[in-house]
Amino acid sequence: MRDRRQSTTRGGTAARPRESMIIVGGGLGGLSTGVYARMNGYRTRIFEMHEIPGGCCTAWDKGDFTFDWCVSWLLGNGPGSEMHQIWMELGALQGKEMRHFDVFNVVRGQDGRKVYFYSDPDRLEAHLLDLSPADARVIRDFCQGLRRFIRCLRVYPFLKPVGLMGPVERTRMMSKFIPYFNVIRKSITVLMRDYSQRFTDPLLTDAFNHILYEKHPNFPVLPFYFQLAAHAGRAAGVPEGGSLGLARSIEDRYRRLGGEISYTPGSRRSWWRTTVPWAYGSATAASTARTSWWRRATGTRPCTSC
Ligand SMILES: Cc1cc2nc3c(=O)[nH]c(=O)nc-3n(C[C@H](O)[C@H](O)[C@H](O)COP(=O)(O)OP(=O)(O)OC[C@H]3O[C@@H](n4cnc5c(N)ncnc54)[C@H](O)[C@@H]3O)c2cc1C
Repeated sequence: MRDRRQSTTRGGTAARPRESMIIVGGGLGGLSTGVYARMNGYRTRIFEMHEIPGGCCTAWDKGDFTFDWCVSWLLGNGPGSEMHQIWMELGALQGKEMRHFDVFNVVRGQDGRKVYFYSDPDRLEAHLLDLSPADARVIRDFCQGLRRFIRCLRVYPFLKPVGLMGPVERTRMMSKFIPYFNVIRKSITVLMRDYSQRFTDPLLTDAFNHILYEKHPNFPVLPFYFQLAAHAGRAAGVPEGGSLGLARSIEDRYRRLGGEISYTPGSRRSWWRTTVPWAYGSATAASTARTSWWRRATGTRPCTSC
C-alpha cells in the first residue's frame, strides 16, 4: 500500500517520497484508511468535523434508552469469511461478545400473520410451507437457492479486489464459482419485486420485499440471498457495544498505531483551514459517505425486526 512514487514539483524535478496522508472524515471509511495507512508506515491525521468517531456508525443515549443508528448486522463479524480478518486487523471485534439471532427479520402482515425469516434454509422452508402450502414450488426454489448461496459465500474473495488480481489468480478465483453460476445468474437477473409476484399468498409477496426491512424495488434477489446466507453462517450478527463501540474500537487501534485525529465540530471546512500547511506535499484520502442507498428511517419501516 505504501506509495513510494516520487511526487514531482512544478519544475518537473523529483521531490521526496510521499510519506504522509490526511484523511477527511472519521467514519468507518476514514478510520479504516487511517489504520491501514499507519500499518503501512504513513504519517496520518484524520480530520473529523464531528466530536466523536464513527460517522453514520453511531449511537446516542436519551433517557434510559440507547438509540443505535447503524449496525443491525455486521458482515464478517464471525470467523469463516475473509471479511472477518479485516475487522480483526482494524481492532474492531477483539474481546467482544457477538450476538447472533435465529431470525433475520419478522414481517407482520396487515392481517396479523407473521413471516419469520429464519436464515437457516430448512427452518425457513418449513415455516413458509406452513404459512402457504400452495406456494410450495416457489418456496422450495428460494430455499434451495439460499442453500447454494451459503456454500457460494465461503469462496467469495473479500481480501483482494478482483481488479488487483492477475489473470491466473482471477481464473482460479472464478473457477471456484462455477458450481454456483446458475444461482448467481438467476438471482442477479431477477428483481425481488418480480420474483415475489410468483407467490399466490399476498402476505408472502409483501413480506419477501421487506426482508431487508424497507422495500428496495430495484434490488435483484441476490442481495437478499447474500444477507441471509451471511446471517446463516453466523457472519452477520451484532457486536457487543453496538455501532459506536465499533467505531471507538477502531479509533483506539488507530491511535495505538500512532495515528492522529482532530475533531473540529462546528465547521464543515475546518479540515481545510487547519491542514493546508501540514498537508503540503501529502497524499490526500477522502472517506466518502456511501450511505445514500441505505435509507432506513425509523417510522417508515413497514415491518418490525426482532
Ligand atoms: C441507518 C443506517 C443503517 C446502517 N446499517 C448498517 C448495517 O447494519 N450494517 C452495515 O454493515 N452497514 C450499515 N450501514 C452502512 C454503514 O453505516 C456505512 O456504510 C458506513 O458507516 C459508511 O462509512 P463512511 O466512513 O464511508 O461514511 P460516514 O459514516 O458518512 O462518515 C463520513 C464522516 O466524514 C465526516 N465529514 C464529512 N465531511 C467532512 C469534512 N468536510 N470535514 C471533516 N469531516 C467530514 C462526517 O462527519 C462523518 O463522520 C448503515 C447506514 C445507515 C445510515
